[in-house]
Amino acid sequence: MAATTPRITAVDTYDIRFPTSRELDGSDAMNPDPDYSAAYLVLRTDADDGLEGHGFAFTIGRGNDVQVAAIDALRPHVIGRPVDALCADPGTLNRDLIGDSQLRWLGPEKGVMHMAIGAVVNAVWDLAAKRARKPLWQFLAEADPAWLVAQVDFRYIADALTPEQAFALLREGRVGAGRRAAHLRARGYPGYTTSPGWLGYGDEKLTRLARQAVADGFTQIKLKVGADLDDDLRRMRAARAAVGPDIRIAVDANQRWNVDEAITWTRALTPYDPYWIEEPTSPDDVLGHAAIRSAVAPVRVATGEHVQNRIVFKQLLQAGAIDVLQIDAARVGGVNENLAILLLAAHFGVPVCPHAGGVGLCELVQHLSMFDYVALTGTTENRVIEYVDHLHEHFLDPVTVRDGHYAAPATPGFSAAMRPESIAKYRYPDGSYWANATAAPDPHTKGAAA
Ligand SMILES: [Mg+2]
Repeated sequence: MAATTPRITAVDTYDIRFPTSRELDGSDAMNPDPDYSAAYLVLRTDADDGLEGHGFAFTIGRGNDVQVAAIDALRPHVIGRPVDALCADPGTLNRDLIGDSQLRWLGPEKGVMHMAIGAVVNAVWDLAAKRARKPLWQFLAEADPAWLVAQVDFRYIADALTPEQAFALLREGRVGAGRRAAHLRARGYPGYTTSPGWLGYGDEKLTRLARQAVADGFTQIKLKVGADLDDDLRRMRAARAAVGPDIRIAVDANQRWNVDEAITWTRALTPYDPYWIEEPTSPDDVLGHAAIRSAVAPVRVATGEHVQNRIVFKQLLQAGAIDVLQIDAARVGGVNENLAILLLAAHFGVPVCPHAGGVGLCELVQHLSMFDYVALTGTTENRVIEYVDHLHEHFLDPVTVRDGHYAAPATPGFSAAMRPESIAKYRYPDGSYWANATAAPDPHTKGAAA
């Protein structure tokens, strides 16, 4: 018998790990052997519709159990919530989770606990969009601007962006939204690919994949840099020769350098025309990014995948420290905080080019960029979503990239749900893959027979 008021009945969590380190997929100067992982959760309800909310935090292996434990710690805030009220106003849960008077000590609004909040909040948005029978980008793009403003926590950012300014941006963004939604459905949203440029790939593989990227319709690729300058000069030369002068090549140092090294290294690469330098130094160093930016122009400075909250993004924008803002769907406190960051970027006139890849990050973040295009900034000029061609097969509604563009999702929700068989296989440590891998140890593992 149906409950009169449907409620959240379970927050089920899963430690999912993929053995990507075996192929050096995802390798960069700071992360040489990632096992791409998801601290994954499913919100279940007792509603008759049978709908679930799916969300996750992305990690790269060890520590995914810590991330799952952080999501588990939020469970008491979520169980028993009425589904209608929760989906009508995810912002209330968002504020309650951030405001937990004891868990807050572990942040505030940063790190493992904040990523856990993001995973839970994103699962609520997935459920809300499914109930509205719309893909999340459309759910956001058709939402009342005043309601969207109410979903944003302006605490600590109102000195840079007021609710009134945010409302004006959203109201203006609505003009022509129908036309842009039609264009988005027809053409998609531009992407760029990082697949040629992992640091662990040899020159032949880099060259082959760079040529393939151009043939596939991409107008921008990205190379990992920062381990060895001579190697980077050789790889950059090979990539430029492969793609020609008209394709943008971004470079990504994954926080490898001090400020002075970032300047020297980036300048050394300028003969090969790098489009942006990504994560040149610590994501917390706002003034360092500003110094790098002024020293390496016209090379653009990009960061954001490790920027922990809207307040640091506010400072990066206020300090004129970045040319490109890279939101991540699973780093900050979920859709609510990413709305704040998109609005800040729009207010400061800085293009957003999201971080993606990992596990499911392309699936999630495409919705935020598509909303930004349809109903906020109204443009894709100098905007591209990162694309990495790994692990999409584990998702029920995987991204589709055609001619260098992300196709607009049509399935209701946030595209976050993983295939049950993938969860069963890659659940750590007892899924079938890991159970077998433990039985026959990887020869690279310390202590195994050589
Ligand atoms: Mg990066």
